[in-house]
Amino acid sequence: MRVVQTIGVPTLSDNAGATSTVVDADAIVVALKSRTAPVAEAVEQSLYAAKWLQRQGVEQLYFKVCSTFDSTDRGNIGPVAEALADALQVGIVPVCPAFPETNRTVYKGHLYVGDVLLSDSSMRHHPLTPMTDSNLTHILRRQSKGEVGLADHGYVRQGAKAIRDQLERLQSVGKRFAVVDAIDNEDLMEMGKAFKGLPLVVAGSGVAIGLPQNFGITPSAGAANLPLVRGPRAIVSGSCSAASNAQVVDFIKRGGDAFSVDPLHIAAGRDIVAEALQWAASRISEAPVLFYATAQPETVKSVQAQIGVEQAGYLVERALSQIAYGLVKRGVRQLIVAGGETSGACVQALQVQQMRIGPQIDPGVPWCYAQSPAAGDDGLMLALKSGNFGAVDFFTRAFGMLA
Ligand code: ADP
Repeated sequence: MRVVQTIGVPTLSDNAGATSTVVDADAIVVALKSRTAPVAEAVEQSLYAAKWLQRQGVEQLYFKVCSTFDSTDRGNIGPVAEALADALQVGIVPVCPAFPETNRTVYKGHLYVGDVLLSDSSMRHHPLTPMTDSNLTHILRRQSKGEVGLADHGYVRQGAKAIRDQLERLQSVGKRFAVVDAIDNEDLMEMGKAFKGLPLVVAGSGVAIGLPQNFGITPSAGAANLPLVRGPRAIVSGSCSAASNAQVVDFIKRGGDAFSVDPLHIAAGRDIVAEALQWAASRISEAPVLFYATAQPETVKSVQAQIGVEQAGYLVERALSQIAYGLVKRGVRQLIVAGGETSGACVQALQVQQMRIGPQIDPGVPWCYAQSPAAGDDGLMLALKSGNFGAVDFFTRAFGMLA
């Protein structure tokens, strides 16, 4: 599918009241920074996005959540999914964060990361949404009013019809949500067929692989064609995931130039953004430079104990996003951002409104083309890597693809 991602909801109508222009794409992604927002705010943003997408004429709404189901007992997956289901007046809503290509699988309603349960994975140390339960039906039940059922692998392995029948059965006994198992892409392809015509799907990005077949779209590499912008390179990393920690170490080990951003220095009032940009001044070039707050769980915990969880997150996101803006202003045209929340902050600071999705670097992470006032008329290449994605040499390989 040709995909355009908008950052936030484009304005619903212009000053004259006409609806905004139709986006030219097979699928439109509206990116919201709602994962850890207050529940009411996340719900409001999501409903507004749904309304805009409906005006774009979309046939199916996909509430995309993290493949590690990042959330807390307050939400926001349950409350947002329920609000969307109410707005669309749908019966049963399938829920499946599985993304087998990145080793996220769901079996008997339990989410696995690689060989271990989610609650035994490094996600238990996440700075904002520590995941300490792996049972998706339990997690969702705590976050929502509706009943949660399970379409387990016994149905999934029998194929689309069995999945659909089980969804209908769960709906007939009053369930609102159905967690659906999936352990490989074949499961996702069957799930795709089973979800044909459903108005609402709640899933990680994995499930999307099975959906184009429902819209008569023939796979084409041309769908990922992008304009190529050349120029200086940089990486900004605010993710503290195990993968990002390893990627930062790998980049430095290969001789990459790196600037460490310490939340305690920001909290103490130092102008870290100015220091970082001054450091960058003589280094901005084709050889990528890295700015990172990425740290090991013990360090993050200690920082959070000193300045608070939210404040630490906020200070780091603000500093890194201002650094990203400053870098692009100073000529960087190929930028990688590591961290979901960090990416949200960076695209907001860069005032990116839309991105065209291009070729995949690693499963779940593509290069994108975006325009930003900071980049003038050139536009820029952006790769937004959520925490645990990407192989250890991700940074090096990603830039290699644009050579
Ligand atoms: P991921 O995709 O790995 O979840 P995010 O960017 O979504 O990464 O979340 C990481 C959060 O941790 C952000 O809010 C970020 O500002 C915060 N953070 C980054 N580095 C540190 C640090 N050294 N100490 C405390 N918090 C940090």
